[in-house]
Amino acid sequence: VTEFELIARWFTPPPGAGVLLGVGDDAALLAPRAGEVLAAATDTLVEGIHFPSGSPPRSIGHRALAVNLSDLAAMGAEPRWALLALTLPALDERWLDGFAAGFAELAARSGCALVGGDTTRGPLAVTVTVLGAVPAGGALRRAGARVGDALCVSGTLGDGAGGLRAAQGDLPPGAASDALRARFELPEPRLALGRALRGVAHACIDVSDGLVADLGHLLSASGVGATVEVDALPTSDALRAVCAAQARELALTGGDDYELAFACAPEALAALGAAGVALTRIGTVEAAPGLRLVDGAGRPVTVARGGHDHFA
Ligand code: ADP
Ligand code: MG
Repeated sequence: VTEFELIARWFTPPPGAGVLLGVGDDAALLAPRAGEVLAAATDTLVEGIHFPSGSPPRSIGHRALAVNLSDLAAMGAEPRWALLALTLPALDERWLDGFAAGFAELAARSGCALVGGDTTRGPLAVTVTVLGAVPAGGALRRAGARVGDALCVSGTLGDGAGGLRAAQGDLPPGAASDALRARFELPEPRLALGRALRGVAHACIDVSDGLVADLGHLLSASGVGATVEVDALPTSDALRAVCAAQARELALTGGDDYELAFACAPEALAALGAAGVALTRIGTVEAAPGLRLVDGAGRPVTVARGGHDHFA
């Protein structure tokens, strides 16, 4: 199998909407719709850094796209197109079957067409670039949270970090570990919620590096602070079953959850019920800068570490 046969066999999808020219030329030609702007994001997954060596190929294909779609969700954008830069140590047909299936399944149900990429040989790494559409002026940003806003998160927190431990064999085997592992290996980008938050949320971010770190970005971009009640953080039954002692710490600082954290008027929350994922109010935006963590009795809570920094 040559490089070009590889592209033709695994990475030449059916043409997508707005694709004037897809895989096969020097660049793709894409036609955005009138009145929309494009949100562009890219993220790399490196074996041994972003996923354990030997992860299931389907998971790697899914995650490489999912982490990028999560950034589009956080902007309120609708996925349109993706580019895939793949560095492979060897041409393993079974691995490529799994990887391409994981990528294509999520791409198809997200309305995201693969329109190009690059294929090279080297240590396993996957870079995906996504382009999403959002009505002009309608994108969500990290900046914009207002004093008095409710701070909210979708889904449950800490499962990604718990799932990584499960994938590494660090948790007792069983249904709870399997559920956590699936949350790490096959995260679900909150695209419907992101779109529902357009015109409702004043600021939004996806939780990829841990709630404390990511909320910190939202608050500093907005020039505000907040108090968050740690006993209000949503955690899953699975996490509490196998990581009881660390559940709170993982919910605060664990990465890889790909939930959305956002600020909105408290009375706007009730109207957001239909986005298909549970929403939990965890705190309130305040004028004083910084993130203050308190327990149910209002006592300050400290955390051991902030978010992930590759160069720290
Ligand atoms: P060039 O040398 O002009 O950059 P390439 O030979 O790298 O082009 O790629 C040929 C075509 O295949 C291009 O359209 C490119 O976008 C596409 N392509 C290459 N690798 C991938 C991949 N992994 N997934 C999707 N498309 C790919
Ligand atoms: Mg070329």
